[in-house]
Amino acid sequence: MRIPERGQDAEALLATLETYRAKDIDWRSGRTFAYVYDAGREAEAVGKRAYAAFLTENALDPTAFPSLLRLENELVSMGATHLSGGPEVAGNLTTGGTESIILAVKAARDRARALRPEVTRPNMVLPVTAHAAFHKAAWFLGVEPVPVEVDPGTFRAGPDQAKDAIGPDTVLVVGSAPSYAHGVCDDIPGLAALARDHGIPMHVDACVGGWMLPFFRRLGADVPAFDFSVPGVTSISMDLHKYAFCPKGASLILHRDKSYREHQIFSFSGWTGYTIVNPTVLSTRSGGPMAAAWATLRFIGADGYESHARALLDATRRIVDGVSAIPGLRVMGSPDFCLVAVASDEVNVFHVVDEMNRRGWYIQAQLGFRGHAANFHLSVHPGVVGRVDEMLGALAECVEIARGLPPTGLSEMVKGAVETLDLASIPPEAFAQLLAVAGIQGTTLPERTAGINEILDALPTSVREELLRRFFNDLNHIGDEGAP
Ligand SMILES: *Cc1c(COP(=O)(O)O)cnc(C)c1O
Repeated sequence: MRIPERGQDAEALLATLETYRAKDIDWRSGRTFAYVYDAGREAEAVGKRAYAAFLTENALDPTAFPSLLRLENELVSMGATHLSGGPEVAGNLTTGGTESIILAVKAARDRARALRPEVTRPNMVLPVTAHAAFHKAAWFLGVEPVPVEVDPGTFRAGPDQAKDAIGPDTVLVVGSAPSYAHGVCDDIPGLAALARDHGIPMHVDACVGGWMLPFFRRLGADVPAFDFSVPGVTSISMDLHKYAFCPKGASLILHRDKSYREHQIFSFSGWTGYTIVNPTVLSTRSGGPMAAAWATLRFIGADGYESHARALLDATRRIVDGVSAIPGLRVMGSPDFCLVAVASDEVNVFHVVDEMNRRGWYIQAQLGFRGHAANFHLSVHPGVVGRVDEMLGALAECVEIARGLPPTGLSEMVKGAVETLDLASIPPEAFAQLLAVAGIQGTTLPERTAGINEILDALPTSVREELLRRFFNDLNHIGDEGAP
């Protein structure tokens, strides 16, 4: 495609853009339990108006746009206050949880560089349930992740599991509040005490739960301590574009005080251009997400969040009870949040995902890992609470259908093949063959994804990753689409 020779009509272009959405997931239907956190049309409209109003302003230089500095400081202040932090908390708005986590790891690494020069090979202590973003941060920043197992029944990490992982090169201990996969909060007070005993910073990943958990607690839910009220917690990441329902591109990285945030900032003048001082990963930063988050938080307000929280707690309780009552299904652990992972010892969960999908319900498959079973995941948000009973009915039906489907034999086949393979030297054709067995031709996914998931589930993680890297390398590719 090339740009048109003559500029085109705005209305026609916007209409064409709408047609591009045709195959997107229909999240407005209230049947999508992932990706979109929908607090209704009014909140959406306010966020979008504020976003558009500040889209062009640039936070690259806060002295040129004091409006954005003010918005960012007020967002940090609202976030810090919400998480029991005082006025000494220092933080920034980032584009998402991944960026907040990268900055937390960077600050911890550079703090160790400054204060503990004897550390030459920094590592971080990371429960296996911690978000993949920490591994991405580790990879970008040259910090080695030291995995920590979680309790196999509760999926919780605590000091008993973590204590042997801490060593002389550890620069950060991580816990989740909660983990995305199972919605379970780690033992943050226990992990933070352990970190403090060793003089090591502790990061709490409250990306998904940080905003909503205090409202759950206010309503009497048993929410374990996870925020700045816990001694030893030195930084927290909290997404506003998840359960604060702000438009995407908004997360907070918060540090207990400036002495920790200091190491997050990049400052550079060794080139011929303008001197750069970047507290976050990005340099040019749109004011849109800031203004949108600011407006959304204040539009919904504590009373609004509390009523969303009430609906979410109720819906989650109904899902946990409803799922437990479906023969063949079991909820993994006991979720502290409105995220539910469901496994089965009787049916292939990937078939359940496909069958639900065929009926217009979107639920997420999660692969097995280190002995933790493959499962499907439900993110409960206000947009779906009205359809929980209907979803449970569909789920019961899909489980029975999955029970009746013949075994594919794919996982046995792949496991057998993998045992004879030298994983380091798999030729590209072998990956193409694997993809073909799963029903993938070129970059076209089959309607049923169970085959793909079964194959991925049977492969070692390194091979899964390689397979998916190749697939995306092909998927994200300029083809021969004609110009519209
Ligand atoms: C979503 C999530 C992240 C990553 O956030 P993004 O905004 O997708 O980059 C990190 N940790 C947890 C627990 C999450 O749920």
